[in-house]
Amino acid sequence: MDIKEEIFGYENFGIERPVLSFGERVEEALFERFKSIEKIAEINSLKVLHSLQKNRVSTECFSVSTGYGYNDYGRDTLEKVYRDYFSEFLDPDNEKYDALVRPQITCGTHALALALLSNLRPGDELFSPVGQPYDTLLDVIGINPTKGSLMEYGISYAESPLIDGRYFDFDDIKKKLNDRTALVTIQRSRGYGARKTLTVDEIGELISFIRGIKPDVRIMIDNCYGEFTELHEPLFVGADLLVGSLIKNPGGGLAPVGGYLVGRKDMIENAAFRLTSPGLGKEVGASLDMTRPFMQGFFLAPEITKNAMKTAVFAGECFSRLGFTVSPANDEKRSDIIESIDLKSPEALIAFCEGIQAAAPVDSFVVPEPSYMPGYADDVIMAAGAFVQGSSIELSADGPLREPFRVFLQGGLTWPSGRLGVLMALQKMYERNLYDKSLLC
Ligand SMILES: *Cc1c(COP(=O)(O)O)cnc(C)c1O
Repeated sequence: MDIKEEIFGYENFGIERPVLSFGERVEEALFERFKSIEKIAEINSLKVLHSLQKNRVSTECFSVSTGYGYNDYGRDTLEKVYRDYFSEFLDPDNEKYDALVRPQITCGTHALALALLSNLRPGDELFSPVGQPYDTLLDVIGINPTKGSLMEYGISYAESPLIDGRYFDFDDIKKKLNDRTALVTIQRSRGYGARKTLTVDEIGELISFIRGIKPDVRIMIDNCYGEFTELHEPLFVGADLLVGSLIKNPGGGLAPVGGYLVGRKDMIENAAFRLTSPGLGKEVGASLDMTRPFMQGFFLAPEITKNAMKTAVFAGECFSRLGFTVSPANDEKRSDIIESIDLKSPEALIAFCEGIQAAAPVDSFVVPEPSYMPGYADDVIMAAGAFVQGSSIELSADGPLREPFRVFLQGGLTWPSGRLGVLMALQKMYERNLYDKSLLC
């Protein structure tokens, strides 16, 4: 197993032999795990290809539209590709589902805000049965009083926390569903929280329970970080709308901006009427020259997501062997690309992030430092050397400087670069004696 180090030169990155061979052994032990991740990517790639072919994607799709963007064939075709993939071809007559995939959607938060603000009306209530949503949604909902929030428009909010960050509180959910509950929002990924990421099956179980009480309630999934990690997406288990960011999984690393919504036709129409204008809806919105990177990124996305998953699994296995608490544990089923590692000291958190940064294709010479971030009580350290600013399908790591010095690691466009990032993090910590070196053997 000396082939890799001799031929490919990990020593050029300053990685020492004990770290290198530890990485080799961990990778060997993950053989079966990686095989199953590769199988998921293979099957999802076939589904993407089928969707591209079914919708007769052609060179013509990649022409550039400007101005109003009327009759933008490429944009409309891309939205059909998303529709068919995420609805898994369950609606052959295209009566039920539609999609909105646009560069004018600036980020994941914008996509989620669009879905909520367009599908709720004054007097309605939004309900989260999985606890408090992602940080930026606290402003959108108005939990943090904010201009233009749902609450300012007279839309109320209720939530049921997950028990131990893990289990649905069915009694409480039943109590909180009421006549005004108009939309249920379920966040699939843990995001940067302490809770568990939900699998598609678990989301299905929750949806069945909710529909048993309130059959007609609309159910939206914050699908950020979850796309392509499993064989099915949540429309398959009865969700009405999926929402996400194109600078995460479905952009495949190529989309430089954008967000998507896919799901029930009427809900997509509401969102389109709010994104552009009542009456205009999906008919306007120049794609500029984004259709090709969006389409090609979607084609690559199952493979890119696979690389990010392998990176997360590799990091989880390395650091759990060194005595750190990681989540998810490697025997847990995965439904997103995030791995958290409790590094136990500020020095370890800083060394880890320095290693991730040093392995990046862009800005590798930068040394990340903890600093103040609006909205956080403690200083935060972030490592990211990405082609697309803020893209978290590219290898990145961040964490606040407080107990338990938890770092969140995500992304990795390629397996070699993800693997190198994890090895560099191990190396920086090795040099500073931040774990028991005897555990490497
Ligand atoms: C990233 C993310 C968002 C918000 O996306 P931005 O693009 O950062 O605005 C929302 N929810 C979850 C679960 C996320 O991971």
